[in-house]
Amino acid sequence: MNARRPTPVLSAPTPVGRAGVLRSPRAQVPTPAPDAAPPRRPVPVRPAPLKQPAPALVRSVRPPIPGLVFPIPIRAVVQVGTRTDREPCKNDPLCEPPWHESSVPLYALPDGTPTELRVGDSFLGEDHRGKWECAWSNCDGRHLYVIIPCDGILHTWDVSGKAGNCTLKDEREHRCWVHHGSAEAGNLHVDKAASNPSKTGGPGSTCRAGAGSIGVGDFHGFVHGGKLVKA
Ligand SMILES: [Zn+2]
Ligand SMILES: [Zn+2]
Ligand SMILES: [Zn+2]
Repeated sequence: MNARRPTPVLSAPTPVGRAGVLRSPRAQVPTPAPDAAPPRRPVPVRPAPLKQPAPALVRSVRPPIPGLVFPIPIRAVVQVGTRTDREPCKNDPLCEPPWHESSVPLYALPDGTPTELRVGDSFLGEDHRGKWECAWSNCDGRHLYVIIPCDGILHTWDVSGKAGNCTLKDEREHRCWVHHGSAEAGNLHVDKAASNPSKTGGPGSTCRAGAGSIGVGDFHGFVHGGKLVKA
């Protein structure tokens, strides 16, 4: 299976007050929050490499994703295990054994009904609990994920991860995105409203990177009030 993982290029998020302005996805210019540092040119950066390969959270999808109408309600799903897919080897000479196996995560609704991942789904992943370090020194291993569209396929946004344009590169206790509410309650909301106002890091604080949006490939949007909206 060709699990195409798009290269995440996290653009500077847009302040809440400017939401609704559709930017050209290839020419995004960050607008700093009122209290932010002076404007500077965005330098797209790749997220810091994990010490182990990221879990196979992105599934290849038949492009294009049909009929996306925004805003899209955030739907709670849960990971319920994995399925092993086996494809015949097409190499010459054939590998031994002559097949390739891949592990495909399976998802269900909170009531247990199996479902396919779709744009707007959100779940808690526990993939790296106890296995390897992430960007944070105070992470319990559980990350919040939201499925967004990216260049025609599903992309798993690691809301608990580190933004490519984080302004506190070496600080390991803040969070670049702050989330409130929950997908289950229908009020998941992601912004920069941190409980700790420190601008230099620490538990409960956030950095100056944007205003809580996500920009990957051709998508730039927010999770606001239980819905995935375009920026
Ligand atoms: Zn092979
Ligand atoms: Zn973590
Ligand atoms: Zn940050």
